[in-house]
Amino acid sequence: MLGLMMDMPLTLTMIMRHGERNHGMQEIVSVTADNPRHRYRFADAFRRARKLANALDRLGAKPSARIGTLAWNDYRHLELYYAISCSGRVCHTINPRLFDEQIEYIVNHAEDEWIFTDVAFVPKLEQLAARCPGVRGYIVMTDAAHMPQTTLPNALCYETLIEGEADRYDWPELDEKTASGLCYTSGTTGNPKGVLYNHRAAVLMAYAASLPDTCGLSATDGILPIVPMFHVNAWGLPFAAVLVGAKLVFPGPTLSNPQILADLITMEGVTISAGVPTVCLPLLAYARESARSLAPLSRFVIGGSACPLSMMEEFRDRHGVRVLHAWGMTEMSPLGTVNADTRASSAWAGDERIAQMLSQGRAIPGVELKITDEDNRELPWDGVAVGALKVRGLWICRDYYRLEGQGGAHEPDGWFVTGDVCSIDPHGFMRITDRAKDVIKSGGEWISSIDLENTAVGHPAVAEAAVIGVAHPKWQERPLLVVVLKPGMQATREELLEWLDGRVAKWWIPDDVMFVADLPHTATGKLSKLELRKRLGDYRLPGASGAD
Ligand code: AMP
Repeated sequence: MLGLMMDMPLTLTMIMRHGERNHGMQEIVSVTADNPRHRYRFADAFRRARKLANALDRLGAKPSARIGTLAWNDYRHLELYYAISCSGRVCHTINPRLFDEQIEYIVNHAEDEWIFTDVAFVPKLEQLAARCPGVRGYIVMTDAAHMPQTTLPNALCYETLIEGEADRYDWPELDEKTASGLCYTSGTTGNPKGVLYNHRAAVLMAYAASLPDTCGLSATDGILPIVPMFHVNAWGLPFAAVLVGAKLVFPGPTLSNPQILADLITMEGVTISAGVPTVCLPLLAYARESARSLAPLSRFVIGGSACPLSMMEEFRDRHGVRVLHAWGMTEMSPLGTVNADTRASSAWAGDERIAQMLSQGRAIPGVELKITDEDNRELPWDGVAVGALKVRGLWICRDYYRLEGQGGAHEPDGWFVTGDVCSIDPHGFMRITDRAKDVIKSGGEWISSIDLENTAVGHPAVAEAAVIGVAHPKWQERPLLVVVLKPGMQATREELLEWLDGRVAKWWIPDDVMFVADLPHTATGKLSKLELRKRLGDYRLPGASGAD
């Protein structure tokens, strides 16, 4: 027997309508290339989204057309999110930090019809346009006064495009499984793979992201997504913020300018922000050096890479900010786990507390986790057994776009193989020890490069650290610690090894330490160990020539 409840599809149109009607007066503040503080309200954003949807119709963009965006976080990008997806098209966010060849590949693979771009990326697209013949035209996200001269074919100005359009639009009644967005993973090997989101997953993710033990979002919050809107929809925050009616504060192109970020936080009343650890480093350093407060910030969602303990402690002790350590993937819309307390964990202290803080937290309702050994046997949640992490759930991709059946990451029974290696404790706290391909195997045992990096970064002179396995004749592999020192700070190899002694198992202590000016990062701000290994070329560990 079926229940007798209304059959309303889960669509972003529903979130948009709710936000406009119930929170129409809520503010959205943006830094853009043409305005240091643009401000307007939800009602204005969705009125302009309707004009934009009319403009897309006039441009002849087909239903399901992929519409590309190369843009920072700002109000025009938000308008595009809703206008494209709610009119039944697919918002394909492109990471402008990718190599030109990768952008060319994904624009052609996605078959983007139109591309909306910030002024800053016009020169990049001019180089690429001839190699992307399927793109019908480019819309530069600015006003007539700031429209650059360009050789882009069919170049239009955003404000001119929507200016004369009606602000009424009959949003189509979409099936909740209609594709809404497309984001390519920045895979380190092979071509990027497309994750095709749908409305249902985006809505469920927005609800789940807002739960008290996820990001705990409310209409009283001011949200500053530093994580780019081209990286998994800024972790879903532009949808969750509209759902709950929170103020949105967008940093535009200034997301790596700590002074502007601190200004936005204090002047715009930001209570929660989100980003990868690499954006937090300069923000914390700036606040420390200029003795600035980050009030009223109270939570910071940090994910994308492991958050070092020292970073959580500095946020907590200096700024009273609770770090919500989160783990997820492009394939997971992206949230999988968040580290929030349980009744039991809130009483923990000492090492137990530290171990919990370092974990990536517990599964968000809607996501199931399991860990398996090499023979695909499930491992216990005892905090000790380490294995391959597999997931399934309400907002996880079931295949890759135009690669159906060939992605290699989905098992026949539907579980998605994340490529991460972790343990899970009896309370459900999951701790990532490595990417499967970065695991260091020494004498048949695994050494966690993430734990070593976290501990090294706790040393006062270390700005950033990477640990990789290097071939060793006796032990198979041994760890090498590569560090970037903070400006003006000194530390020797011996001092760093001494720092690790007692903080990690003796046999984990790296065989060598290398000092470098910088470490390579991927387009999404993660350490690129692939590139680091290339840079290190034929480096040999001291004593690795014979068995020692
Ligand atoms: P992406 O799809 O680019 O967002 O990358 C997803 C990958 O980033 C995951 O599979 C993890 O390897 C890594 N990752 C994300 N969050 C964390 C975290 N909190 N700690 C450690 N690794 C993380």
